[in-house]
Parts: sequence; structure tokens; C-alpha cells
Amino acid sequence: MIDSKQRPLRDLRLSVTDRCNFRCVYCMPKEVYGAKFRFLPKHELLTFDEIERIVSIFASLGVKKIRLTGGEPLLRQNLEHLVAQLAKIPGITDLAMTTNGYFLTRDKAIKLKQAGLNRITVSLDALDDETFGRTNDVGVPVKRVLDAIDAAHAAGLSPIKINMVVKRGMTDSAIIPMARHFRFTGHILRFIEYMDVGNTNGWRLTDVVTAEEILHQLSTHWDLEPIAPHHPGEVARRFRFLDGGGEFGIISSVSQPFCHTCGRIRLSPEGRLYTCLFGHDGYDVRALLRDPKLTDQIVAEALTGLWNRRHDQYSVDRTTATPSHSKVEMSHIGG
Ligand code: SAM
Ligand code: SF4
Ligand code: SF4
Repeated sequence: MIDSKQRPLRDLRLSVTDRCNFRCVYCMPKEVYGAKFRFLPKHELLTFDEIERIVSIFASLGVKKIRLTGGEPLLRQNLEHLVAQLAKIPGITDLAMTTNGYFLTRDKAIKLKQAGLNRITVSLDALDDETFGRTNDVGVPVKRVLDAIDAAHAAGLSPIKINMVVKRGMTDSAIIPMARHFRFTGHILRFIEYMDVGNTNGWRLTDVVTAEEILHQLSTHWDLEPIAPHHPGEVARRFRFLDGGGEFGIISSVSQPFCHTCGRIRLSPEGRLYTCLFGHDGYDVRALLRDPKLTDQIVAEALTGLWNRRHDQYSVDRTTATPSHSKVEMSHIGG
């Protein structure tokens, strides 16, 4: 499966819900996602069986890696049942999840691991309750997420990745404390440039702390060196602390776009496929899945055509005008 820019399809990201118990200011600002916001009704969501079918079809087309996301994926009841269904699909060799950690108890982490989850990323933006409470905007304390990281580790989901969004004036003061905390733990901290996803977070270029600025801050404290990517198309640039403190990553989608190697496709909770995180409309695959006349073969041909026509490169084409273009929200499609 190659798109119009010769990029192979590699990963599928599954957003299993558009709901979340956090209101991170860069993702689901309260003013928009308040009491009146209409989330998807249950009957609009793809069922676990529908998700299993579409993943099997993607696996037959060469996809090996799946990431569960949301909204908050652990708000979807019995998610471990879906994990078990996906883990047994031939060809799926890597099953991961990104979560805010709130519902990741020891028991849940063990259930997910036993069901076949291979890896986990937990999002955490700061280590002090004041900064983190302002970021998640619902007052969740840092300890709740640190406990989730411990639970994931105890369940054998290591190495754990920690996602930190760096937004100027909000979390940039946490770069050094976060690095200091996660050095020598075996967990891999990833600094993410604040992105202009969707249209609700009031993104401004001046709020982006670039990869270069992040590296500069870190290099005033520690000696660092870049390390080679694990595989082509890896989104994070990897670095390590020369004193043996471990590795960290920087995702520089704004300052150094990586569209030329992007092989990710995203499925929304109600079954729309997006070939770019900054897509507008998506492709209604649920209609295909719910049409009893359409065989797996026909659905596979439709997906192949969709990928073959793909020419997305939003981050390369980003200008001062593009942030205001109509785009799917991060909390809907899952990052
Ligand atoms: N709720 C889960 C979580 O927070 O881990 C999964 C979904 S969340 C949309 C996926 C990732 O996107 C998180 O690590 C989050 O920090 C990141 N994210 C959300 N909005 C972002 C933005 N505007 N720029 C960069 N990263 C963002
Ligand atoms: Fe929820 Fe994740 Fe978005 Fe925060 S980043 S509001 S936890 S979906
Ligand atoms: Fe991929 Fe679109 Fe992001 Fe470029 S902007 S890396 S094409 S998701």
C-alpha cells in the first residue's frame, strides 16, 4: 500500500471514544467542551466487532501496528475485550495505547497486559499540581498519573512512554523537572510541540516551544547526543543522556515536519478514516462495514484506493492561513 507520494501505510490509530474526563486546555477547552457539547451517541460508535473487522482488513493490507486512543480510551467500557480481539488478528505485531492514566489502576493495567496490550504511553505535562491542574483543567493531581505509570510498569508494560505537550507560558517551566524525574527510570519522556490540531484550542505560533529551544534548555543541564531512529517513519527524534540517564524524544511536527515519512491512518470513533491528523472530513468506512452486500474484499479495495490517492502533507504546507482551516479535533481523532 503506497500513497501518491510513495509513502507506505504502516500504522492505524483507533480512536475509540470522543469523550474524556480531562479538559486539557490545548485539546478540549472547557468553553467549547462544556455541559452543552454533544458527544457521539452510543449507537454511532463502531462496535468492537466492527473495529475487529476493519483491523483485520487493514492487517491483510500490511498494517502491523495499532494504537488505541481517544478521547480517553479507558472511558470505553471493557476495553481489554477489544484488546483481546485485536491481539489475535494475524499480522498485528504491535498493540499500543495512549491514555491520560486516570483510570489505569493496577487491576486494569494487568487486564490490558493479559489481553495482549504490548505498550503504553501515558500523558503527563508537569510534576507540580498547580501547573498540571491548570493544564488538565479539572484539577487532577500529578500523583494520580504517576501511580498509573507505576501500575503500567508493575503489569509489565515497560518501557513506558510519557507524552508531555510543551506550550509556552504553560508547561515550558516543567521541561527540566520532567527530564530530571524520568531520567534513570527506563521510561521514555517525549516532548511534543504544541500543534494547531482542530479549531478550538486558540493555537498561536508564538505559543510553540520548538524542538531546538527544548534541546537547548536540556543541554544546559546535561550532555546529550542524538540516536538513530528505531525504524523509518518514527515520529520522535531520539536523544540520550551521555551519563547513562536513558533516552528521550522530541516530536517536532511544527518546526521540523516529518510528512515525507508519514504512514499513519486514523479511524474516528464513529468510523471515519482520516489520512492526516489535520484532515477535515474523513472517509465514511462505517457505511461500508454496515452494508451487508459488501465483502471484506470490496472494503479492502476501497481502503487501497483511499490510500493510493493520498497526498496529505499539512505540516509541510502549514502557513499563517492554515491553522484557521476547518480540521478534525484532536480529542475526536486521538493524535
Ligand atoms: N486522552 C489520551 C491522552 O491524553 O493520552 C489520548 C488522546 S490525546 C488526544 C493523545 C495525545 O495528544 C496526548 O499525549 C496529548 O497530550 C496530545 N495532544 C493533545 N492536544 C495536543 C496539541 N494541541 N498539540 C500536541 N499534542 C496534543
Ligand atoms: Fe483528554 Fe487526552 Fe485531550 Fe487531555 S489530551 S483532553 S486527556 S483527550
Ligand atoms: Fe502525517 Fe498529516 Fe502529520 Fe504530515 S501533517 S505528518 S501527513 S498526519
